[in-house]
Amino acid sequence: MTSEEMIWDLSHLVSNNTETASIRRRLDSMTSEAQKIREEYHGKIGALDGNGLLGLLEAKDSLHLSYEGTVEYCLLSYSANSTDEIAKQLNDAARRAIMKTEQALAFIDIELGKLLSEKPQLVNHPELSEYKHYLERILRKVPHMLTEAEEQLVILKDKNGINAWETLQSDWLSTRTFTMEIEGEKKTMPYGEIVGYYQNPNRELRKLANQTVYEGLGKDDIVWASALRAVCEDHIEVGKLRKWASPLTQSLINNDLDEEAVKSLMQTIEKNAGVYRRYLELKAKIMGLPKLANYDLAAPLPSAPDTTYTWTEARKEITASFSEFDAEVGAWIDEMYAKRHLDGEIRKGKTSGAFCSSWLAGKTAYILQSYNSRIRDVYTQAHELGHAIHAYLLSRAQKPSNCEIGSCRAESGSIFGELLLTERLLSKAKTKEEKQAILCTVLDQFGAAAFQVSARYFFEHATYNAIKQGQFLDGETAAKLWVEARDKICGDAIQWLEVMKWEWTKSPHYFMANYRFYNYPYVFGQLFVYALYRLYKEQGKAFVPKLKALLSAGSSKSPRESSAELGLDITSETFWEKGIKQAEEFINMLEETL
Ligand SMILES: [Zn+2]
Repeated sequence: MTSEEMIWDLSHLVSNNTETASIRRRLDSMTSEAQKIREEYHGKIGALDGNGLLGLLEAKDSLHLSYEGTVEYCLLSYSANSTDEIAKQLNDAARRAIMKTEQALAFIDIELGKLLSEKPQLVNHPELSEYKHYLERILRKVPHMLTEAEEQLVILKDKNGINAWETLQSDWLSTRTFTMEIEGEKKTMPYGEIVGYYQNPNRELRKLANQTVYEGLGKDDIVWASALRAVCEDHIEVGKLRKWASPLTQSLINNDLDEEAVKSLMQTIEKNAGVYRRYLELKAKIMGLPKLANYDLAAPLPSAPDTTYTWTEARKEITASFSEFDAEVGAWIDEMYAKRHLDGEIRKGKTSGAFCSSWLAGKTAYILQSYNSRIRDVYTQAHELGHAIHAYLLSRAQKPSNCEIGSCRAESGSIFGELLLTERLLSKAKTKEEKQAILCTVLDQFGAAAFQVSARYFFEHATYNAIKQGQFLDGETAAKLWVEARDKICGDAIQWLEVMKWEWTKSPHYFMANYRFYNYPYVFGQLFVYALYRLYKEQGKAFVPKLKALLSAGSSKSPRESSAELGLDITSETFWEKGIKQAEEFINMLEETL
């Protein structure tokens, strides 16, 4: 099923010159240009006026735009095939160059922080209007900054220390093979392939795939528990140095949010867990089961038409759904396929999961996924292409400094894309079985992102509380905390395999340093977009420019501010309830098919 159009063409990133020596020279020149910026500005930022500051910020942005393509080429080549020797070397070289560049430029934020704490009025300088919110965000970090030497040490400590846990976890998943018996024959396959069986119509195969993967992960629980402890304790220790109020502080600052918004979001979720359980019970009924098992969560309905989508068919449906929303957006989607910026082939050594990587200088993006031809894969593709649209809009409206949108808004384009696909597929569905299949796909996604992911947020809170109380987090203790968090959301609506207590071990973000509380932004993104989609349904085409403006704003405004401009208050539960209402509408539609 693999054809060339499913394999991405990364050569555009390096102007078609993929010669290794030339790429290495570009990386060297990135670090030396960063060094030049350092020589020009180090120790002098405190004396800059508005105009001088503009010069520095523009130099930094232009460095990013000049070398972004080369760096992306190295990192993406490795994601596509971590067993390739050249890709390994280039990935390593790029990571070293990024580290050197970051080290050389680490002084900027520190000196800027000092300057802004002394002259906060600079934030409102007319010359710096485009960088206003960028400067406000730095000002918020000021109380948590360390000295330059300490910041450099933190970068070093992370690169050769704590970051290794994340690499280990990702390498484990991408290099392990799993063996299970299928129709009497033993089959050995990589992680990216066995997870395809989670959606297999055969219930026994789904069960076996889950059992095989989590049993394998659970066997190394001693490794995962060590990693979890190290990453959590590192965060606590660094937090003391940085004077964070709680383990959540860093994430709030990074997501440009206040605790009020997160609290009202998570309270809305906890209060409405019953809405999700209602869906789970409905799905069990449609599947003819007394209760869903965890391996039914991602399952297609037995009554669902056994539709698979070739790459070409997926392309056609996705392009059409975005084009119905807006012609310009549709043309950008078409360009993504035409220029082969998507990689869908399944192969060993390829990073598991899916992602979209922006290429701002090219005003476009690249997408990686392992395409298994199921409806879920079409949804993943629409999701990632929604991210790409976000990149198209951002790169045309903002400087790189205003493109750090944080995880909350990172999902705005992607989830909206999924809903556009849903609209198209529902309008074409002829039978109740087709409608059920589509609605369950979208509600499975919603349930996973809004509710199941919330369990991860509650779990992460629990790990920090346990450490605070002096508990030793071995594998079994962490597993117990995971099960408690999971049950808070799902109650007894799901029958879990015993090995699912190891579910936390496969989530990369628990092993990522400086990326704590990675999860609630997905919940945020999901409910946020469901509310936006409701507005689109009410206002029709009049809403299109509003959504484009929201996506184009990037980090030039906070989520609270850019939402307020559309009349939405993200600190009130009333707002979040709108997202729940949209989900209930889908659940009602599903109930009507019975
Ligand atoms: Zn996404």
